[in-house]
Amino acid sequence: MEQQRYDVVIVGGGAAGLSGALALARARRSVLVIDAGEPRNAPASHVHNYLGRESTPPGELLAIGRGEAAGYGAEIVEGRVASAERLPGDGEERGFRVVTEDGRSVEARRLLVTTGLVDELPPVPGLAERWGREVLHCPYCHGHEVADRPIGVLATGPLAVHQALMWRQWSDDVTLFLHTGPEPTEEEYEQLAARGVAVVDGEVAGLEVADDRFTGVKLASGRVVPREALVVQARFTARSAVLESLGLEPVAQEMGGAVIGSYIPTDPTGATEVPGVWAAGNVTRLTEQVIGAAAAGLMAASAVNGDLITEDTRLAVAARRA
Ligand SMILES: Cc1cc2nc3c(=O)[nH]c(=O)nc-3n(C[C@H](O)[C@H](O)[C@H](O)COP(=O)(O)OP(=O)(O)OC[C@H]3O[C@@H](n4cnc5c(N)ncnc54)[C@H](O)[C@@H]3O)c2cc1C
Repeated sequence: MEQQRYDVVIVGGGAAGLSGALALARARRSVLVIDAGEPRNAPASHVHNYLGRESTPPGELLAIGRGEAAGYGAEIVEGRVASAERLPGDGEERGFRVVTEDGRSVEARRLLVTTGLVDELPPVPGLAERWGREVLHCPYCHGHEVADRPIGVLATGPLAVHQALMWRQWSDDVTLFLHTGPEPTEEEYEQLAARGVAVVDGEVAGLEVADDRFTGVKLASGRVVPREALVVQARFTARSAVLESLGLEPVAQEMGGAVIGSYIPTDPTGATEVPGVWAAGNVTRLTEQVIGAAAAGLMAASAVNGDLITEDTRLAVAARRA
């Protein structure tokens, strides 16, 4: 870290953090990005639905972003932030101390936290190893790539029928594995039948793999149902430790009667309940995609810059009067 104190320290250098860094550096703010280098979509081969960069590998998109932000003077360092705390005092003295796990510390007038989320996967043997390859969650990220292929949907909660009906848009060969999910209602069975979605009873025991390809779903009964992709409902848990160290609490996110994860609430600009602290991307909006996370980073950056302009003006007026 080249300085002791920055206008803004950004914790997390994914799409949201780098987009914020670009906008703040272009606004002539001193910016430090501290990034642990584990973006959520790292297991995926390509980023889809990012206009202008469709089908770019995730690492390549971030490398472009880092180059763009650094080109305007943003400093980007590797590291994992352990905690942040408010420094005592008002006005000029107001700000935060950020401490990394390896003991480095730096001060910031404002904080932008873009630490993303963790996908907690159903505990089926062999499933985590294929996450982002053939074990999928998001049809907009992967649907086109598995179009017309045999797709399985693993039920672990009440959203499974909704998922099966959604993925049916990409393939007419969809099987819903009831596994540990609830029994569908009569109305849902009718919908599944009308859309030609097969339903398989019984617990799933594992995944069949041949030549490093997922080939089927193995049931506890020993039966194997050939499939080429398996859709799961991950639990989306905000990576909120840094925000929690500032006194913020994650709240549960519900969808369709199910808790799908937890997030840190913000206002539409990304401002949290702690003055001076903003958040953007998946840590605050669990369903945000890459382009949405980047847009949220920009929105938060412009709000942070506006807040700093207000403070700079207040300090200038006080100095002038003195
Ligand atoms: C398998 C998979 C495939 C996907 N495919 C697509 C797709 O094709 N298109 C699409 O639009 N979306 C896709 N997504 C969603 C996409 O990953 C997210 O929308 C996006 O990553 C959110 O960006 P973010 O900046 O909020 O978080 P992230 O990209 O996760 O970045 C957060 C960064 O913060 C860092 N970090 C975390 N904690 C700390 C800390 N304490 N200190 C320092 N750094 C920290 C992390 O290491 C990481 O680098 C996919 C998701 C998955 C799981």
